[in-house]
Amino acid sequence: MKTMGLIGGMSWESTQTYYRLINQKVRDELGGLHSAKLVLHSVDFAEIEALQHRGDWQATADILGSVARSVESAGAEFLVLCTNTMHKVAPQIERAVSIPLLHIADATARVLKQDGITCVGLLGTKFTMEQTFYLGRLQDHGIRVVVPDELQRERIHSVIYHELCRGLVRPDSKARYLDVVASLAERGAQGVILGCTEIGLLIQGADTEVKLYDTTEIHAGQAVRFALGRD
Ligand code: GLU
Repeated sequence: MKTMGLIGGMSWESTQTYYRLINQKVRDELGGLHSAKLVLHSVDFAEIEALQHRGDWQATADILGSVARSVESAGAEFLVLCTNTMHKVAPQIERAVSIPLLHIADATARVLKQDGITCVGLLGTKFTMEQTFYLGRLQDHGIRVVVPDELQRERIHSVIYHELCRGLVRPDSKARYLDVVASLAERGAQGVILGCTEIGLLIQGADTEVKLYDTTEIHAGQAVRFALGRD
């Protein structure tokens, strides 16, 4: 089994989900008392969030690049960046180390293609829903992406930072998210990506007829497959 390097804390609410899912999946694959070999470096999200909203992505890249180096020197053989948004600086992180990074959008596109999805809805932070680093990566895989309208994007983003990243799961926000999921399906999406690692805390597959693609679950699953040499 390879040792994986998790870059977490963005937010820690979803990093704990990664930690649990990764260990459960290793146990499912290997049985007995098996658990994942991993190194976790968890950052202070307040520092990252302030830089994101100030638009200082270079500073976030410097922080995460140095975190990636520390994870590599602690023995990690590949990186798992436990957030969709911060894949905006994935190229800089990759340049800082000599181990590979398992990109969350590639992991997701792979599952979408297996399911024959050619048009998908995307929920995430405004950075993820509006900028090219994520949308473009999905489009490079031949997948058309539908995003919520401006007001919906504003609300989705606000719930992520003001509720989900603080551990708050509110029924009114859940209902609002499910309305957005339904509107994306009406606009032609054959499924919807939960493209923020906390959204799975709020809505799950059983809440809607629309097929949901939870990036935390997908990313954790592919990290385990890669660690076990199953890919
Ligand atoms: N965890 C979230 C994501 O997957 C948002 C927090 C962040 O900005 O990193 O995008």
